[in-house]
Amino acid sequence: MPPLEILGCRVDDADLAEATARIAAFARDGRSHRVVTLGTEMIVHAHRDPAYRVVVNGADLIVADTIGVVYASRLYATSLRGRVAGIELLESLCACAASEGLPVYLLGAAPGVAEAAGAALAARHPGLRVAGTRDGYFALADAPDVAAAIRESGARILFAALGFPKQEYFLADWLSASGAGVGMGVGGSFDVLAGRLQRAPETFRRLGLEWLYRLLREPRRWRRQLALPTFVWLVALERLHAGKGMPSS
Ligand code: UDP
Repeated sequence: MPPLEILGCRVDDADLAEATARIAAFARDGRSHRVVTLGTEMIVHAHRDPAYRVVVNGADLIVADTIGVVYASRLYATSLRGRVAGIELLESLCACAASEGLPVYLLGAAPGVAEAAGAALAARHPGLRVAGTRDGYFALADAPDVAAAIRESGARILFAALGFPKQEYFLADWLSASGAGVGMGVGGSFDVLAGRLQRAPETFRRLGLEWLYRLLREPRRWRRQLALPTFVWLVALERLHAGKGMPSS
């Protein structure tokens, strides 16, 4: 089967257990690997910004973070089995990191949030080594120091909660320098782990309405969420063109 590509972005088919196992293997080998948890808004952004698309497609593993990406995949030849929510992958990786002795680093969110998220994770996963934390509001000029601090911490897994596209660009530029085996963008996950933000209840998630819950809780996101109808429209156009055998750019 050819790899799935939605609006120019590759998406890999993996369930939570497979993604966790692959990433744990990345963390153990000597090289640096980037993981993208891809949402609909990110795909729309990548569609408009070729540089971001290159960064996303350069990742070693790209999983579908939102149900919209999974629904869209059903219109393509290779469809996805399900979503792998970034926050669930983070949690599952921490369980694995605790049992395998792989130190993790939490970079991102407002001051104090990464620290609180790290404490919550360490409490849930006995043996987890949180090698370091740092907020995500540093100047671009400080990026080398941020990477050096991560290297010094000895972290094997770096969770970057800087929001997109910043987290993907940061990892593309600085993951190697950080020395971590894995760098994964996790959006607003630290806010949820630290108890500052609530995740959508199970009912909303099951119905594929997590976006609606977030919109109700954070109405200021409405402009960002215009990406959703845009995504549906662009995917419909892409499939229509493919059906007619026309190029789909
Ligand atoms: N953030 C950050 N540095 C920045 C901009 C954002 O650390 O320069 C953090 C922000 O505090 C939040 C996360 O990045 O914790 C992004 O959250 P958002 O809800 O935008 O992410 P999503 O889950 O929608 O990708």
